[in-house]
Amino acid sequence: MQIEFAGAAREVTGSCHILRINGKTVLLDCGMFQGRRAETRTKNAELPLPVSEIDAIVLSHAHIDHSGRLPLLTAHGYRGPIFCTSATRDLCAVMLADSAHIQEQDARFLTRRGKEAVAPLYGMRDATVATERMVGLSYDQAFDVVPGVRCTFTDAGHILGSASVVLDCTENGVTKRIVFSGDVGRSGLPIIRDPQPPHGADVVLLESTYGNRDHPSVAGTRDQLAAVIRETAARGGRVLIPAFAVGRTQEIVYDLHILAREGKIPEIPIYVDSPLAIDTTSVFAMHPEVFDQSEDLVQRVKDLFHFTAVHYTRDATESKALNAQHGPMVIVAASGMMEAGRILHHLAHHAADPRTTILVVGFQAEHTLGRRIVDRAPVIRVLGEEIPLRAQVSVIAGYSAHGDRHELQAWLDAVRGDGAVPPVYLVHGEREAQDEFAEQLRGAGYPNVSTPERHDRVTL
Ligand SMILES: [Zn+2]
Ligand SMILES: [Zn+2]
Repeated sequence: MQIEFAGAAREVTGSCHILRINGKTVLLDCGMFQGRRAETRTKNAELPLPVSEIDAIVLSHAHIDHSGRLPLLTAHGYRGPIFCTSATRDLCAVMLADSAHIQEQDARFLTRRGKEAVAPLYGMRDATVATERMVGLSYDQAFDVVPGVRCTFTDAGHILGSASVVLDCTENGVTKRIVFSGDVGRSGLPIIRDPQPPHGADVVLLESTYGNRDHPSVAGTRDQLAAVIRETAARGGRVLIPAFAVGRTQEIVYDLHILAREGKIPEIPIYVDSPLAIDTTSVFAMHPEVFDQSEDLVQRVKDLFHFTAVHYTRDATESKALNAQHGPMVIVAASGMMEAGRILHHLAHHAADPRTTILVVGFQAEHTLGRRIVDRAPVIRVLGEEIPLRAQVSVIAGYSAHGDRHELQAWLDAVRGDGAVPPVYLVHGEREAQDEFAEQLRGAGYPNVSTPERHDRVTL
């Protein structure tokens, strides 16, 4: 049997690995490469292998860097199964449709600019077909992917429905267990359960996004959130929370719900201002089976995402009307890095108001508006206008959905247990993070750690 690293090799995005066994071919993830447009367009358009050669696909979770090119495969005729958890399937229905919409918009923009027709990477129909091919399964329930490959999902604790993938592969009478971590989450995140590392592995494919970073703990984030809201409300301002529509928004709403029940925040209106976030919230509500039953709110309350103070604004005119509304309020809007979405018009109207707080709860990549705001640029450019940044800027770092270097190693240690030390292939990480993490693991008793390049193949 052989593994080829076809994406998220020495980089974070484009997760895709190819398993060849018993004359069959299985794809693990088929994600979108993200980053600078010109580079990623070519990489995304290129198929990892001819569609006719793919027998089955196993998907770890719904994030676009793992699922985003599945519609490209269906556009090229793939009609085989895509195995994933039920929650992943339902999240993908929303997210792949959104991605198709972005692809179509992008193609229109490029066509206008270049005066030559540019075809979208894929369209809405391809996204629908991809979702239709998805087979939703439960955690801890073994199923056959192709003859000789038995698969089990365990909870990766990263986003709703996220899985680590255990593949028991039998070829010529020999069985080897390949464990693909997917994206590894953290203990204590709101709503979802803690990561459940599989037991035992002959080979591990391990993500390494934060392989050289330490995160502040999850404990305490909710109190920080409360403090920011109290202070801002006291001076009559609004709290603008730019947040990814999938996952982060629901965590924030959930924490606000707890704080409201405990009387730790004043009774001010809370607006969730993103159609994608609203759709995603409905998917969350459909999957209580994957919630963390040890959390108090999950046990006590039937509807986690609806309470007196919270309002969902789907309509664009409703969203714009918030600009003229007076008094303190909380607005949660996409996008997370403030590069697009409704957060922009909120910033355009209120970033110059010293009563406002811009509360950053997610990672801000270089060259984004979000990063400039975190770096406290005196003037920011929003929707073509120069705006003096007079708002308070607060950062809460504890919401990260990826384990840091200690949490990743703890996950790997748990997988190994008392068994033999498996070879480890680091995937889903930038070079620097991977090199530092590989050193850390070698020092911790894993002599066989590799950082494969894209298109590298290993025979097991
Ligand atoms: Zn992810
Ligand atoms: Zn990822």
